[in-house]
Parts: sequence; C-alpha cells; structure tokens
Amino acid sequence: MKAIQVREFGGPEVLKLEEIPMPSPGPGEALVRVHAAGVNPYDTYMRSGSYAIKPQLPYTPGSDAAGIVEALGEGVTRVKRGDRVFTARTLSGAYAEYALAKEAQLHLLPEKISFEQGAGIWVPYGTAYFALYPCAHARAGQTVLVHGASGGVGIAAVQMARALGLTVFGTAGSEKGLELVKREGAHRAFLHSRSGYQDEILEATAGRGVDLILEMLANVNLGADLKLLATGGRVVVIGSRGDVTIAPRDLMMRRASVVGFALWGINEAEVREIHAGLASGLENGTLRPVVGKQLPLAEAARAHIEILESRAFGKIALIP
Ligand code: NAP
Repeated sequence: MKAIQVREFGGPEVLKLEEIPMPSPGPGEALVRVHAAGVNPYDTYMRSGSYAIKPQLPYTPGSDAAGIVEALGEGVTRVKRGDRVFTARTLSGAYAEYALAKEAQLHLLPEKISFEQGAGIWVPYGTAYFALYPCAHARAGQTVLVHGASGGVGIAAVQMARALGLTVFGTAGSEKGLELVKREGAHRAFLHSRSGYQDEILEATAGRGVDLILEMLANVNLGADLKLLATGGRVVVIGSRGDVTIAPRDLMMRRASVVGFALWGINEAEVREIHAGLASGLENGTLRPVVGKQLPLAEAARAHIEILESRAFGKIALIP
C-alpha cells in the first residue's frame, strides 16, 4: 500500500510517499481503508522532532482518518466489515491507504458526515470538548472568546459553545475567516491581525470582560488575554509555540486562572466522555467539521507547510 513515511526528523521534505507492506489486524484490531486523513499542527511538530512525543523511526504520521472497515482481527465486536468509521489515533498512522487501529480507536461515522469531514473529528473536536467542558467548566450564559476560531479546533469550539448557550466571540486573521467564524455560530468576530482588536472585544462586553478564553496561540496572546477577563475568568491554553511574559497582577485583580492540557495526555475515562459528547453532536447536526482544503496524499509536505503558514479556513484533508 502507499503511505507517507518519515525516516528522519526534519522539515516537510522528509515526508515521502512510499510503497510499504499492508498491515494485518491482530486480536482486537481492525484495518481501515482510508478515504481521508486529517492534518493537525502537532503532526508537524512531531515530524520536526521537536515535540514531547517522538515516534520511533520510520513512522507514518497522522492520528485522524476516516474510511471503511476492511478487515477484522480476532474478537472485534464494536465494528464490522463495511462500517463507515473515523479514527481517534491509530496503530500504524493515518497518512496512508490503509490504517490499523485498535477497535477502541474506531468510532462510527454518521451518514451525514463525509469522509473528509470525518478526518477532522478526533483532534479538533476532542480538543475543543476537553477545553470547553472539563477545563473551562463552560456554562450557558457565559461569554467565551475563541482566540483563533477559523481553524480546526476553533470552529469546533464555536459550534459547541453556541449549542450550549454561551455568547460566543471568535477571532480570525482574514475577512474570509471572519465570515466562516460567524457562519459557524459566533455572535461576534474580531480580526486578530488588526491592532487594537482587544479594545473592540472589551467594548463588546461593555467593559466587563469575557468569562472564558480558549487560546490557540498563547505565546503571542496570553499577556493581553488576562486583561480581557472578567472577575473569576479563565484562560484555557490550547496552543502555544514559545514563551510569553505575563503580569501576574492581572490574575490577582480578577481572581482569574490559566489552565492548559495536551490531548494525548488524557486518560481513558476522559476519552470515553469526549466520544459520548461528540457522537450525539455529530448525529444531531450540532457538530459539522469544515474542510477548507483537500490535497492528494502525495502532497503531505505541502499540507504541513500550509497548516502553519496560511490563513486557516477549517481543516486540511489528505486524500489517498
Ligand atoms: P489550525 O487549523 O492551523 O488553526 C490555527 C488557528 O490559530 C487559526 O484560527 C488561526 O487564525 C489562529 N491564529 C493565527 N494567528 C493567531 C493569533 N495571533 N492570535 C490568535 N489566533 C491566531 O490549528 P488547530 O488545529 O485549530 O490548532 C490550533 C492550535 O492548538 C495549534 O497551535 C495546535 O498545535 C494546538 N492544539 C493543541 C491541542 C492540545 O492538545 N492542547 C490539540 C489540538 C491543537 P488565522 O489563520 O485566521 O489567522
């Protein structure tokens, strides 16, 4: 089968399309014919070798795929041949024609969700769910700022927060991104590339501040975020690409807090809670992954460049 292989850590050019042996499912495992694979920023950090998780070389990147169950190992009961599924992590990697997964890593894909959308579920929606509920303790009537709302995690968070009954503010770096953020449920959208946009956010709360901030780029924004919080407010750090200086008194004055997490570090009970929440939202149409771009699998390197550089507009999906 064809698969992207990483044989050494490095830039996007180390992603090579190769012919490798097809994996076969052992007990409790299933083989999925991949119709689409989702590209996440942490795939790029891992490929560079600079991340907390360093896969053993060579490896096939990707945790998020969607496709059809092709073959089953012994004892598998949760899925059957021919089921439409999405993966929440895999054993063999998602950037490939076939992916091997434990049965617990496979989840049924509702008919109304396409394979391309299905490849944008686990990391983006799992992260948004964990940020909004276990970390932020979001409640109806609160105001949330989704800081970086035009990408995979941000769109997921906007849809969830709107469905729960929060007042939702989102930011994007382009006019097209602002339109997307509003279309997906934000009451107000702000351009984070415009200087002084934080003043517009404070004005939109009549000076009170927001209750919650879901932060996609903490190394740039955390210091200013603390000044946007209402009393008792909370920032959930979802993404950060470096260090940042904050004024601790901004926290003291507001009795505010900052919390962070990494999705790969959560436990099995938390994973089960996430899937219970996502399944109902995907089924009832509340959660609708947005695919901004589809690229052939062979162009994985381009996808890794674009996800870090371009203005986001939903997810990038690789098509084997
Ligand atoms: P993505 O699809 O590439 O989207 C990136 C988002 O960040 C876009 O909305 C982008 O907006 C926004 N952004 C760019 N510059 C910004 C700025 N100065 N201030 C605020 N937002 C800005 O990535 P993603 O999948 O949504 O992930 C977002 C971040 O969360 C990444 O850093 C990722 O590594 C991290 N993450 C963490 C976890 C975890 O477990 N903690 C899980 C998933 C993702 P424009 O492009 O419109 O400017």
